[in-house]
Formats: sequence, structure tokens, C-alpha cells
Amino acid sequence: MMLIDSYEIEMFSPPCDPGSPIWGARVRTNTDLGECMPYVNASVKNAFYDPNTSTLVWREGSHKYALRENVISINMLKDRDHAERVAGKITARINEIWEQRGEITPLNTGRVIPKLLDILKLLPRTNCKECGYPSCMAFAAQLVEGEKSAEDCPPLNDEDWGDNLHKLRELGL
Ligand code: SF4
Repeated sequence: MMLIDSYEIEMFSPPCDPGSPIWGARVRTNTDLGECMPYVNASVKNAFYDPNTSTLVWREGSHKYALRENVISINMLKDRDHAERVAGKITARINEIWEQRGEITPLNTGRVIPKLLDILKLLPRTNCKECGYPSCMAFAAQLVEGEKSAEDCPPLNDEDWGDNLHKLRELGL
């Protein structure tokens, strides 16, 4: 039996930037994803995994994926069609991993999700709102949640902030 056999997609854009051309999606599945996380963790690269809060976050291609309870969050989406394609691929992959779990050694450890204040130290801390969030702290929380990527902070893409962007990327954010 498939792990995920149905889901609903909820699109969201940054709360301060409702017209943003870049969307995120929350894919609400019909099942809890906690049991499959150690197998997914073993099958993807450089994931953050916290078994205590049942949270798995990783980056792949141009998207960041975050699994929590029965939600898969995906960022960097152009529109709903794009979200449907990416959601279809990731749910099919999770189902495949689940079906093959007998051949996968589950991985119950992972990189530790960085602390909010450590992330904040690497952001410009101007609260300029260009990212669509009301403050750098709010944006840092979105990085931890896996719903945003470091490059979604426009000032960080300036050459002067290149080192900080690099450090955030190294943290998998
Ligand atoms: S765009 Fe960057 S500097 Fe501006 S509020 Fe967002 S995180 Fe802070």
C-alpha cells in the first residue's frame, strides 16, 4: 500500500509580499510522514533531521523540502502548475523510498538544524522587508522551517554579503 495516496496543495507567498512571483507550497498528505523520515533521511544528501520534533529538511536542485507530521513544504515555485509537478515528483519519490524501506538502513541522525540566533547573525539585520517578511528574525524562522532559502534575502545577493550567503548555504539554508 502506498504511503501517500492523496494530498492537497496550499500555495503561499510571503505575508508582506502578497504579489510575489515566487511561491511556496504546503502539501498536506493523508498520512503522517514521521515513520518514513529515517528512510528518506538515508536516501537524500545533507539533510537536517530532528527525530524529537519529527522534522526533516533538505535542499535538492532549486528547491528546499521540509517534512513535518503530514506536511511537505516546498519553496521556489513559479505557480500552482509548477507546485503540482514538484509535489507529484516528491510524493512519488517518498512512496518509492517507503516501498523499498526493507533494503534501506534507516538513518536516525542528521545535521543539527542551526539555532535561530546563529542564523540571524549572518543576515544583514536591517529589517528592510525586501524578502517579504517584517524582520530578519521572521525571515530566519522561515529558513529554519525550510520554507525559504538564503538567496530569498535580496541584500544577501550583493557582493558585500557574499561570505555570509556562502556560510548560510554551507548550513544548508
Ligand atoms: S530582506 Fe534580508 S535584510 Fe531585509 S528583512 Fe529580509 S532578511 Fe532582513
